Amino acid sequence: MRFVLASGNRHKLAEFRAVLAPHTVIAMPPGVELPPEGTESFAANARAKARALAAAVAADPALSAAVGTPLDDVLFLADDSGLEVEALGWAPGVTSARYAGVDGPGADKANYERLLGELAGFAGPLARRARFVCTVVAVTPRMEEYEATGYWWGAIAEAPRGEGGFGYDPVFVPDGSDLTVAEWPQEQKDQASHRALAGTALLERLRREGLLDGREEHTPQRAGHGEA
Ligand code: IMP
Repeated sequence: MRFVLASGNRHKLAEFRAVLAPHTVIAMPPGVELPPEGTESFAANARAKARALAAAVAADPALSAAVGTPLDDVLFLADDSGLEVEALGWAPGVTSARYAGVDGPGADKANYERLLGELAGFAGPLARRARFVCTVVAVTPRMEEYEATGYWWGAIAEAPRGEGGFGYDPVFVPDGSDLTVAEWPQEQKDQASHRALAGTALLERLRREGLLDGREEHTPQRAGHGEA
């Protein structure tokens, strides 16, 4: 099976490649317009993106040629993800990417700095309880939908640590670890993360529905080194 990912985020592409291997995951072809994310739910956002990509490819022969395989063996994949903090009424949630109102390269740092500010006075892992959430949606060329959600529990650190990952990784300490995700090797994150949990659940669902039978493209892939 070939998954076409409705995202321009190279970190997500690499993480989904690791999670969905040996299936192939390719980036969506250039020229596809995705709908802006709303504030209703992770699932609604993921659904809207996967459907928009499927519709765009179905309507444009150049885009389906760019996908590079018969459409019967293609699933259009989208996710929406974010961080939920219990003490903040599960904010920032669906607005995680825009929490500090900053766009561009400084956004991640501004977001986690705002979060640390909001949590000033909340001491200890229980008071700083949080989870990453990821909902993935796969849409067939006939617009049938399959959905799965993964939760990765942990706590917000007192201060940022580590250089790896992206987003809130420098301030998220998963349950069972003393390190932030930004201090973890990427391969370890790929096995434990909310995206890994959602991706694994999605594969199980697709397998149960018979969508994956005999349709594995045995392309050896490692995170960040697959087809683009
Ligand atoms: P979206 O799924 O592209 O809407 O992005 C959601 C936002 O949630 C990202 O910009 C990050 O700020 C945050 N986020 C989602 N997944 C992760 C992760 O694995 N690590 C750190 N931050 C994440």
